[in-house]
Amino acid sequence: MRKHIFNAGPCVLSDPARENTAKAVLDLDGIGQSIMEVSHRGKEFIAIFDETVALFKEVLDIPEGYSVLFLGGGASLQFAMIPYNFLHTKAFYLDTGTWSTKAYKEAQLYGEAIIVSSKDKNYSYIPKGYKVPDDIDYFHITTNNTIKGTEIHVDYDCKVPLIADMSSDILSRPVDVAKYDMIYGGAQKNLGPAGVTFVIIKNSLLDKVVDRIIPTMLKYSTHVENESMFNTPPVLPIFVVRETLKWVKSLGGVTEMYKLNKAKAELLYKAIDDSNMFVGTVEKEDRSLMNICFVMKEKYAELEGEFIKFASSKNCVGIKGHRSVGGFRASTYNATSIEDVQALVDAMKEFEANNA
Ligand SMILES: *Cc1c(COP(=O)(O)O)cnc(C)c1O
Repeated sequence: MRKHIFNAGPCVLSDPARENTAKAVLDLDGIGQSIMEVSHRGKEFIAIFDETVALFKEVLDIPEGYSVLFLGGGASLQFAMIPYNFLHTKAFYLDTGTWSTKAYKEAQLYGEAIIVSSKDKNYSYIPKGYKVPDDIDYFHITTNNTIKGTEIHVDYDCKVPLIADMSSDILSRPVDVAKYDMIYGGAQKNLGPAGVTFVIIKNSLLDKVVDRIIPTMLKYSTHVENESMFNTPPVLPIFVVRETLKWVKSLGGVTEMYKLNKAKAELLYKAIDDSNMFVGTVEKEDRSLMNICFVMKEKYAELEGEFIKFASSKNCVGIKGHRSVGGFRASTYNATSIEDVQALVDAMKEFEANNA
């Protein structure tokens, strides 16, 4: 039986994406070869690749003047490539949790990285009311904090180039791409399986590259000029991304996803807020729609392990919180259904009735 999957990443994928990939792994469109066996420069894969880029542009409404790349290396390699290419002297980082901390630490290797942080309260809120300096090369944000469970729900206006790690909320809501110079992320949270990284880069940003020796593979211009084919791209993960994009589009695109995501999150946050046993860990206005973090109230703390076992007996898996927060984290990405969330809510209510 299919489980209710709340894994933070790699995470749940839609049924059509899994089913169509399973077929293509055995035989791609009846050509007598697997998707894993065709040349990345052959006509079959080029058509798949072009369709993936076109769908991504359509679904996210990416304006003219941007390039879409599908690369290896994960979001973590982008943490290094961004300062390597664009940090002349000083960059500004919004430090909202584990991943953004890793990003600014890479920047510190190449220049000055100044930060505004919510570390003072274990990253349980998104800082507001600070001023972004004018004399910086770029401003880096992490729109959804996968581990801490906070999210920036708006697209910031800013005068300097804005670069966003959207690993865990890409495709979860409409985004005004024109406000960003670059958006990137690992696919394995909402877009596909592990192994491929997406980059949406404004072509004019390439004019601002630092004058230093950069290895060819780590230059954005290499990948833009070669349309992600400088070396062998992750063929199979890109196929799954295409299937995921087709599925998102068929359901009504990101506007519809956003509605469903809000409904799922409201259902689970309400169950947490109504409970006498469970309690949320972050400021309400900054709560993530994708990663819902909660813990047991102090007097029930010793029941944590019991609840994870109980939820698992109800087929709800992947709810153990990250070790830095503890408790529970239910990730409710696009492919998580409202029925999945309801199953978890039912398990929480039953557990509380039995144990409180
Ligand atoms: C998972 C995650 C990363 C790391 O991605 P990798 O592809 O594993 O390098 C970076 N940022 C955010 C917000 C994430 O959720």
